[in-house]
Amino acid sequence: MSNVKELKESLALSCNILAYEGHWDNILGHVSVRIPGKERILMKPHSFGFEEIRPEHVIEVDLDGNKVGGKYERHSEVFIHTEIFKARQDVQCVVHSHPPHAIALGSLRQPLRPISHEGNIFYEGLPLFDLTTALIRTPELGVEVAKSLGKCRGLLMKNHGSTVVGESIEVATLYAIFLEKAARIQLMATASGDPSWTSDQESAIKYEQIYTPHRLGSMWEYFARRAKKFRKST
Ligand SMILES: [Zn+2]
Repeated sequence: MSNVKELKESLALSCNILAYEGHWDNILGHVSVRIPGKERILMKPHSFGFEEIRPEHVIEVDLDGNKVGGKYERHSEVFIHTEIFKARQDVQCVVHSHPPHAIALGSLRQPLRPISHEGNIFYEGLPLFDLTTALIRTPELGVEVAKSLGKCRGLLMKNHGSTVVGESIEVATLYAIFLEKAARIQLMATASGDPSWTSDQESAIKYEQIYTPHRLGSMWEYFARRAKKFRKST
């Protein structure tokens, strides 16, 4: 079981990776992780870009959204995280961000199609949250986001962004990156013509084939090496 120090390091790395892999949006967007055995989460603070986050920036928040530890300001959209963690015991990490292709795809109200490998990750569905396009600043709206997510791995939020969940920081971060890539490819394909995509039957098989725990581990290590290179060069 990961301890808090390790979780802070992984969370900071997740933020750095997201910054360089299509999720940078000024100081916006946030990642959180459940502290095992506690009704608490660790979370990226407000006022910093994803690429700036280091373990010492990470704040601690309770499941009502109150900051209980750390120096920096809490994001107002904390309730996306707290309400998903309450609704989904299987979820250990939530990534909420504003990646441009996912926002564009959400505005078209098209289902995500498995046109590329990455689209297969969401073969069980990628709901569209369209109750509001505003920020999720109340527990009530957080509950609605969690309801819309259901048992899925992620959702698009109309004219806002995307939220992706996972059983670990590594998986949620990778799937957030791959959702943005799948959305980009779908936009390219539909702008150019009438694309074909993987069938429903094949989609689940492809997912199992490609996104094995071993391969996801290697993918995370690769993205971590890339992010650390960027850290050194800035
Ligand atoms: Zn947002």
